Amino acid sequence: MQKNTLNKRVAQSNHTTELETLYGSNVFSLKTMKKYLSEKSYKSLLKTIKEAQLIDPDISDEVAEAMKKWAISKGATHFTHWFQPLTGATAEKHDSFISPDSEGGVMLKFSGKELTQGEPDASSFPSGGLRATFEARGYTAWDPTSPAFIKEGKNCSTLCIPTAFYSYHGDALDKKTPLLRSVAALSKQINRLSGLFGIKSNNVRPHATLGPEQEYFLIDANLYRQRLDLTQTGRTLFGKKPGKHQQMEDHYFGSIKPRVLAFMESLDKELWKLGIPAKTRHNEVCPAQFEIAPIFEEQNLAVDHNMITMETLRTTAEKHGFICLLHEKPFAGVNGSGKHNNWSVIGPDGKNWLSPGDNPHENAKFLTMICALMQAINTYSGLLRGSVATAGNDHRLGANEAPPAIISIFLGDQLAEIIDQIEQGGAKSCRQAGCIEIGVTSLPKLPKDVTDRNRTSPFAFTGNKFEFRAVGSNQSCAGANVVLNTIVADALDDICAKLEKSVQSGEDFNNALQSILQEIVKKHKRIIFNGDNYTEAWQKEAEQRGLPNLKTTPESLLQMKTDTAIKLFEKHAVLTKQETLSRYEIYSEQYVKTITIEANVALTIAKTQVVPAALRYQNELALALDNIKKSGHDSAPAAELMAKLCEHTNSALYGIKNLESVANSHNTSEMIKYMNELREAADKLEDIIPDDLWPLPSYAELLFLM
Ligand code: ADP
Ligand code: MG
Repeated sequence: MQKNTLNKRVAQSNHTTELETLYGSNVFSLKTMKKYLSEKSYKSLLKTIKEAQLIDPDISDEVAEAMKKWAISKGATHFTHWFQPLTGATAEKHDSFISPDSEGGVMLKFSGKELTQGEPDASSFPSGGLRATFEARGYTAWDPTSPAFIKEGKNCSTLCIPTAFYSYHGDALDKKTPLLRSVAALSKQINRLSGLFGIKSNNVRPHATLGPEQEYFLIDANLYRQRLDLTQTGRTLFGKKPGKHQQMEDHYFGSIKPRVLAFMESLDKELWKLGIPAKTRHNEVCPAQFEIAPIFEEQNLAVDHNMITMETLRTTAEKHGFICLLHEKPFAGVNGSGKHNNWSVIGPDGKNWLSPGDNPHENAKFLTMICALMQAINTYSGLLRGSVATAGNDHRLGANEAPPAIISIFLGDQLAEIIDQIEQGGAKSCRQAGCIEIGVTSLPKLPKDVTDRNRTSPFAFTGNKFEFRAVGSNQSCAGANVVLNTIVADALDDICAKLEKSVQSGEDFNNALQSILQEIVKKHKRIIFNGDNYTEAWQKEAEQRGLPNLKTTPESLLQMKTDTAIKLFEKHAVLTKQETLSRYEIYSEQYVKTITIEANVALTIAKTQVVPAALRYQNELALALDNIKKSGHDSAPAAELMAKLCEHTNSALYGIKNLESVANSHNTSEMIKYMNELREAADKLEDIIPDDLWPLPSYAELLFLM
C-alpha cells in the first residue's frame, strides 16, 4: 500500500476519531467553557485562570449555570467540592442539584456561591491543632486553575470541582493551598530575576512543571482478600522470598501479559477521558510491578491529576479482578515503588529555564537556575528529605532500588565540569582557556543521554529538568513540591538581592552574576555527587562532607519544625508558623498510627494464623516421628525437622509476647524491632510448614499468579 493511502486510512479510521473525542470528554475544559459561556464571561474566566486570580463575582452564577448544564448532559446528578485534606487522600461530599418546586416537582439548581465556596464539616479531618474542636467549620474554595471534571458512577455521574480547604480563621487544612502559595512564591522570584536579566515577557505566568512517573503493583484480588496484612496495611507483614523473584531481570520492559494489558487499556481510557495525558506504560523491575507516566503539566494540575490517577488505578484494577497496591514496599526483599517527580520551571518568556540555551544570554539564565538549585538543596536537604518521610517510604529509601536517604544532586560529567569552571573562574581570573564567562561564553551542547544515565541519585539533572526520585508511590506529590518550589524561591531571592545591590552600585551585570555564582558553587558544591549513590563508600563520603543522612521518618520530620523551616515558609508566605507545626503534628501522628496498626495486625496474624498452623504441624509431625521410630527406621532427620519446627514456633511465641508488650506504647522503634523479629520467625516457619497448612498466600502466588 502507498504510504499516503495508509496515512489517510489511519486518519479516517474510527479509532483515531474515537480517541480524539474521548480525550478530555469528562473535563470542563477551555474548549467546553467557550461553548457554554458568553464571550464576555469566557474572557473574564480565562483571565482568572491564566493569572490564578479570584473569579469575578459578577460572572460566577453564569459559570455555575454553564457547568451544571454541561454536567447534566454528562449524566451528573450531584456536584462535589473535591479537596486534598492532610490525610494524604482526596475527599468529597456530594450534593445533588435538586431543588423541589412548589408543585411537587424538582428544578435542578447550582449557584455561583455553591460553585465558589463550600462548607464541609472539618471536624473529622486532621488539623494538627489549627482548628479547635468546637470550630467544626471548614471551607472549600474553588481553584479555577484546575478544571472541573466528571466522575462516572455505575448509574449516575458527579461533577467534581477542585478546591482548596481551609479553616474558619483561614488556616490551610489541605495540601493544595500551600502548593498554590509556593508556586506564587517561585513565580515572584522568577519574575524578579527575569527583570534583572531583561528578559522579554511573553505574558506567561511563571510556574513549575511536573511529570510524575508512578509505580505500582497489581495482584490478584482473590489472593489479596486472603491476607489481612494486605487488606489492613497495604503491605505484607510476613512472607518468605520465593526461589524466583526478580533475579532474572526479565520483567522490566518485558512484554505485557494480556490480562494486565487489558487493565492498562481501560486505565488509559479512563485517564484520557479526564484529560490526564497518560503517555507511557510498562513493566517495572519486580514481577507484578508496573509504571505509568503522563506528559508533564503545570504543577498544580499535575498534582491533581496524579491524585486522580492513583484513584483510577485502584478502581480500574478492581474492575479487572486485580488490586492495585500503591504502598512503597508491599513485598520485602524485592523492589518497592516510588514516584519520580520530574520538576522544572517555565519563565515569563514561556521557556523552560532548566533547558541549556543556545546563546550565552540563555545560558546565564540556565546556570543561574542550576546554582540556585545547588544552594537550595544544600541548604535545605533535610527539609526535602522530611517532605517524603512516611512509614512506607522508610522501607524503600536506602534499600537497593531507591536513592538513599542522603540527598545529593547529580549533574552529569559535562555540567559538573562547567560548574567546576565557574568555581575556578570568576570574572577576573577567567582569561585562561576553558573558563566560563557568564553571559559571554557559549556552552558546549549537553546531550540528554549523557545526563540521564545515573539512576541512583535522589535528585538528578536529566537534560532539561530535575528528577526527584525519593517521593513515595503512595504519597501526594504536593508536599515535596511545596518544599522544592519554596527553597528554590528562597535561593533566587538571595541571588536577586545580591544582583540588585551590585547593579545599583554600578557593577557590570555579567561580572556581578559571575561572582555570585562562583560564591554559590564554592559554598554548596558538597551537594554534587555524580557517582553511584547505592554504595557504602558514598555513605562514608557523604558523612565526611557533612551531608545529613536521615534514615527514619521521626528524625526526618523533625526538620519540618526547625526555626529554619518555620522562617523559610513564613518569609515566602507559604505556611504560617502554626501551619508548619500542624503538619509536623499530623505527619508524626500518622507515622505512629501506621506502625501501631502494623504491629497489631502482625500480632493478629501471628496469633490466629501462623502459630496455629505451626502447632497443627507439630502434632502431625510428632505422630509421624513416633511412627518412624516404631517402624525401626532412622528417625534422626525427622527429629531434626521437629527440633527446627519447635525452635521457630517458640521464637514466634516469644516474638508475640515481646511485640505485645510494646504494641500500643507509641515506641515505634521498639515496635519495628519486635515486628521484624516476629517476622523472621514466621518466615522460617513458612519455609518448613506444609503448603496445605500454611494459611497465607505466598509471595510466589502473589507475584506470579495473575
Ligand atoms: P525517563 O525519566 O523514564 O527517561 P522522560 O525523561 O522522557 O522519561 O520523562 C519522564 C517524565 O518527565 C515524563 O512524565 C515527562 O513528561 C516529564 N518531563 C519531561 N520534561 C519535563 C519538564 N520540562 N518538566 C517536568 N517534567 C518533564
Ligand atoms: Mg524518569
